[in-house]
Amino acid sequence: MSTATLPHVVAGKALNDPGTTARTNVNPATGEALSAAPLDAVRAAERAVQAASEAFPAWSATPVGDRVQHLFRYKMILEKHADELADIIVEEHGKTRGEAMGSVRRGIDCIEHACGAPILMMGRTLPQIAVSSSFCRTEDEGGVGIDSAVDRVPVGVCVGITPFNFPVMVPMWMWPMSVACGNTFVLKPSEKDPASSVRSIELAQEAGFPPGVLNLVHGGPDVVNHLLTHDDVRAVSFVGSTRAGSYIYKTAAANGKRVQCMCGAKNYSIVMPDANRGAAVDGILGSAFGNTGQRCLAGSVVIMVGDSPDWFLPALVEAAKKIKVAPGREQGCGMGPMQDAESLERVRSYVQIGVDEGAELVLDGREADLPAKGCFIGPTIFDNVTPDMRIAKEEVFGPLLSIMRAKTLDEAVAMANTSEYGNMAVIFTDSGHAVRRFETTIEAGMLGINVGVPAPMAAFPFAGWKKSFFGDLHTNGEDGFRFFTKSRVTVRRWL
Ligand code: NAD
Repeated sequence: MSTATLPHVVAGKALNDPGTTARTNVNPATGEALSAAPLDAVRAAERAVQAASEAFPAWSATPVGDRVQHLFRYKMILEKHADELADIIVEEHGKTRGEAMGSVRRGIDCIEHACGAPILMMGRTLPQIAVSSSFCRTEDEGGVGIDSAVDRVPVGVCVGITPFNFPVMVPMWMWPMSVACGNTFVLKPSEKDPASSVRSIELAQEAGFPPGVLNLVHGGPDVVNHLLTHDDVRAVSFVGSTRAGSYIYKTAAANGKRVQCMCGAKNYSIVMPDANRGAAVDGILGSAFGNTGQRCLAGSVVIMVGDSPDWFLPALVEAAKKIKVAPGREQGCGMGPMQDAESLERVRSYVQIGVDEGAELVLDGREADLPAKGCFIGPTIFDNVTPDMRIAKEEVFGPLLSIMRAKTLDEAVAMANTSEYGNMAVIFTDSGHAVRRFETTIEAGMLGINVGVPAPMAAFPFAGWKKSFFGDLHTNGEDGFRFFTKSRVTVRRWL
């Protein structure tokens, strides 16, 4: 495999403008070099914005029913190329084959949702809101009726800045809805694993989008700053860490853009004594260790209530030991590598932090049966974690599960609510009363009831609360359509 520098996609064509610095990405399971992503491609970013600006007038004037025909075609193309995209994701991200394919399918779900634009961007009218009587009275009607309407119209050039952990799916939270609404789009994918993002945008060109409607540019902070401060950019959608998201939110807003930033997480799950035991263990296992813990919906803290530790903890540790840690393409692999060496080092350092803080290391992923090379670490479980410890508070973004104990549900909720994040929270119980109490007191934007990873389908909004989200309108659902359109109110009378 060569380490060719990946092209940008501008005005419907590959643009080879590597800039002067690039990041070489390797297969995290093997160390094999795959490709290089340009980092300082500001010139290419400028061309992408120009192409998007030039395409906007004609595209926004294209009837919405015609615009979504491109998305219908794209969905069929994606169905044919789903295996190819999943293979690239396994190679450059390290996901298991099942996780990679699942993420492509969730991306396709977003395309299907965006095809509903003719209904979802529809406006509203209210006839006869008033009667104009002073100057325009007609002889026998007693006045001229006045009607009012609100339309939703595209905002202009939109930008998406996306993370490494879902390189095909997360961009599809943004651009399909955006272009369906009549906007043009510039995607800046993660520099860590952009090959599948590039391929998914190349495939979109095959669906016949006019040149400039959908563009992709690689880069790091310089490119992002160029996009955030560009006069022609009207909206910025970001998914990634809270550190980058808070900066992007402030910078884009200060430059007059509308912004939504879906950010980092530390997600709590509560296991009640009456929970279905199999469902609780399976649910927590998948949530904590699926995608090697590299999910914004990873349940990385469990609070066991009452006597649930007696049955929950031994079963969880036994099940975690059985997870096969291997390259994602290997048969039976349950957990692939961390996405890169830096991420592996971060998780290893958090294991040491947990030990130093005095938590009880009941399963040490550093000691697991691991492949000889690659960025591997096994499932790691700490018991007797307290809310003040760093492993309870900070996003590790790896397969490290912290376990805490509480006497009651209310105590567990209070512990969870100390978190500065609020992306997701989960409860396992058979009690409707406990569920209701949980739903009404927990502070998180996405809740799971006996579901370990409550990832909403695209028809529902996706985002958290507190430091997991900056902005007003969440991604996907109706919120997504509102984010990518602005309202225009008209008051009419006919004389
Ligand atoms: P990241 O913040 O490092 O990078 C995300 C994007 O921001 C990339 O495109 C990157 O190039 C850009 N970026 C990073 N630092 C920047 C800076 N200083 N200036 C300008 N641009 C910058 O995130 P990541 O490591 O790729 O992804 C993991 C993070 O994403 C985790 O925190 C995870 O929780 C979060 N995430 C959140 C959601 C959600 O819906 N809330 C979904 C997926 C991932």
